[in-house]
Amino acid sequence: MEPILVLAHTEADGSLAKPALEALAAALSLGGPVTVGLVGATVDASAIGGCGAARFLAVTGDAFAQPRYSTDAAAAEALCRAAGAAVIVAPQTSRWARALSGVALRLGGRVDTHATAIAIRNSVPSVTRWFYRQRMEGTLTRSQRPWIILLDAGVVAPWSGERAAVEVQAIPVDPPPTRTNVLGIEATQAGGQTIRPDAKLLFVAGAGWTKKQGDGTVHGAEAEELILGFLRTSQASLGGSKSLVDLSGEGQPVLGFMTHLNQIGQTGSTPRHPKGLSTCCHGEEPHAVGWRFIGERRAVNLDPNCGWARGKADVLYIADAFAVVRELNRLLG
Ligand SMILES: Cc1cc2nc3c(=O)[nH]c(=O)nc-3n(C[C@H](O)[C@H](O)[C@H](O)COP(=O)(O)OP(=O)(O)OC[C@H]3O[C@@H](n4cnc5c(N)ncnc54)[C@H](O)[C@@H]3O)c2cc1C
Repeated sequence: MEPILVLAHTEADGSLAKPALEALAAALSLGGPVTVGLVGATVDASAIGGCGAARFLAVTGDAFAQPRYSTDAAAAEALCRAAGAAVIVAPQTSRWARALSGVALRLGGRVDTHATAIAIRNSVPSVTRWFYRQRMEGTLTRSQRPWIILLDAGVVAPWSGERAAVEVQAIPVDPPPTRTNVLGIEATQAGGQTIRPDAKLLFVAGAGWTKKQGDGTVHGAEAEELILGFLRTSQASLGGSKSLVDLSGEGQPVLGFMTHLNQIGQTGSTPRHPKGLSTCCHGEEPHAVGWRFIGERRAVNLDPNCGWARGKADVLYIADAFAVVRELNRLLG
C-alpha cells in the first residue's frame, strides 16, 4: 500500500472530533505507512499518539484556528508536500470540503468527496460512494496521485486506542494575507437546534401534520407543540418532507422551526441514524432515498394504502400521528 496522509483540523482545545477519528481509523485499516497531519491553533497529538502512525506533522498558530479557505488550503498543501503521501484521507467536514479541492489542484492531484468506504481491491485503494442522490452505489479507483479522499461522517467506527505521547514535527507556514474573519456562528434554525447528527432516532415529519384532520380543521399549533415536545424529550433529530419544508419556507404559520436544512430525500439529505420514525409522510423521495441509511424504520400514517410507507418501513402503524405522538410525549414526560 502506498504512503497515506490523514489530514485533520483540531478543535479549540487541540483535540480531534469524531469525523477526524473516523478518517484516521479508515486510513489505518488500509495497511500502508500512515502520517497524521494536523491543522489548528494548537494540537494535542497525545490524544491519538497510540494509533500507530509513523509520523505526526502539524501546522499551528492563531491564523489556522479559523475555518477559512486561504489559511486552510495553505496549511493542507504544506502538510501534503511535507508528507509526500500518495493517498490523503480527510473527514468530509464543511471546512475540508471547502479547501481540499483547491489543494488537489495545487498539487496536480485529484479529489473525491462523500466517500462511504475506502478499501484495497486488486492491490490498489478504491473508494465507494453514492451517485444520483444516493440511488446508485459505485466503486472507483484512480491512477492520479496524490488522491485526496473525503470520507463521509458516520460510516466507520472512530479510532479509540491507547493514548501515548508522540513527537510532533512542526511544519512552518506563513499565513497568507486574509480578508475573512469568522466572528461567530449564527444558527439558521428559527427555534432550538433540531438537527442532531449523532441522535439515535431520526423523527420525520410530513405535510400531513398541516392538513385538515378528521374534524375538518388544521391543527398547526398542536402539531408544532407535539413535535417540539417529542424532540425535547427524545433528543431525536428532525427531518422533514419537501412538501412540509416548502410550506414553512413560504412563511405560512405552520411548523416555523422547519427549514430546508431539515429536508430529507432526493433533493434533501440522507442522514445516518440507527432508527427512524416517520409521521404523516407519504412521498417516494423521503422513503426511498432520505431513509436509505436508517437502520430500523417505522412509520405512522392514517392511510393503510400509503405505498412508500408500506414498502420502505419495517413497521407501519395505521394510526393518527397526533394521538401517537401525544401518547409518546406522555410516556416520555
Ligand atoms: C425531482 C423531485 C425531487 C423531490 N425531492 C424530494 C425530497 O428530497 N424529499 C421529499 O420529501 N420530497 C421530495 N419530492 C416530493 C415528493 O415526491 C412528495 O411530493 C413529498 O415527499 C410528499 O410530502 P409528504 O409525504 O409530507 O406529503 P403528502 O404527500 O401530502 O402526504 C401526507 C401524508 O400524511 C398522512 N396523514 C395526514 N394526517 C395524518 C395523521 N393525523 N396521522 C398520520 N398520517 C396522516 C396522509 O395519509 C398522507 O399519506 C421531490 C419531488 C420531485 C419531483
